[in-house]
Amino acid sequence: MTFLSLVVLAFNAEAKPFVVVIDPGHGGKDYGAIGAVTNEKTINLNVAKKLGEKIRKNYGEDEVKVVYTRDKDVFIALNDRARIANEAKGDLFISIHVNSVDKKNKRRATIAGTEVYTCGLHRTESNLEVAKRENAVMYLEDDYSQKYQGFDPTSPESYIAFELNQSKHLDRSIEFATLAKDYLTTTARRVDKGVKQAGFWVLWSTGMPAVLVELDFISNPTSEKFMASADGVEKLSKSLYQAFADYYTAVNGGQRPAGKASSAKSDNAGTTVEPTAEAESVDDDAAGSDAPAAVEYRVQVLASDKAVSTSSRLFKGEKVSEYFDRGMYKYTVGHFRSQSEAEKSLRRLRKKFPQAFIIKMENGRRVD
Ligand SMILES: [Zn+2]
Repeated sequence: MTFLSLVVLAFNAEAKPFVVVIDPGHGGKDYGAIGAVTNEKTINLNVAKKLGEKIRKNYGEDEVKVVYTRDKDVFIALNDRARIANEAKGDLFISIHVNSVDKKNKRRATIAGTEVYTCGLHRTESNLEVAKRENAVMYLEDDYSQKYQGFDPTSPESYIAFELNQSKHLDRSIEFATLAKDYLTTTARRVDKGVKQAGFWVLWSTGMPAVLVELDFISNPTSEKFMASADGVEKLSKSLYQAFADYYTAVNGGQRPAGKASSAKSDNAGTTVEPTAEAESVDDDAAGSDAPAAVEYRVQVLASDKAVSTSSRLFKGEKVSEYFDRGMYKYTVGHFRSQSEAEKSLRRLRKKFPQAFIIKMENGRRVD
């Protein structure tokens, strides 16, 4: 037996399936947003179950394991949803919801479209409104103030803590959110309302890349009709499935799944770009060592699906390096020989970039 085959054996023995946690929002006594002919909890569950079915049909159990926070019409507390996801050691958390516009809004019946959220500090008041509504389910639990440690879903101050916990997973979360948005706006032909950030309790408390999808607005009669129809459920779940398939391919370093029925998979999964030596082209930087070492630490401050000029005002005067990884352009500050050196800079940089975190690079490729 060669050394290589030993390595392969060891790898196979340890290979764990990718765990995707599907979270249909609301349920039981909590209906979520109410429409004219249906309600949010029902749409969420229908789309979630179809999504899980598609994944199970296309991937072997040794490749992908599907875990639901609920697969029937029952009430599940927000912290139980997070606990289920964390106990399952999820690799990706997809929370499925339906949006609605307040009754007072005159444009209530005309506003339509898909919004995909990652956890972060809301940039606009309307993002905060969506988060407040989705978090308010806490009030349905008798002991909510104890369980959520004084978190008040309606108080903006309560949301400030959200910024930090998910930062380690933010770029992966945005990566999936962008794919979901892309497919929901093409396969399911929804209006594109973008990838956004807001403080969703359920995303904040899951230790994995996590997104919350607002499929469309139930307050819009045309959108409601679509989401209530079998055709709508099929297209919405297919969109999320296609996003999953691309994401799975990307996080597995471009490996297509070995498993079943490859014909049903999305056919534009070939977009993954391997990082090249170019990623190593690095400016000399005052912070840290003079030249990029084979192993180095950097502080990542931004990830984007489009290239950003390194002199952009977004970088607030910091000298940044760019690398390309898993379909995203990523920007870092400093080249440090040790984690502890990088941590000193991280403390400073967090004041400008609250979502900054440390990455480890080996020969220009991110390894951690
Ligand atoms: Zn909801």
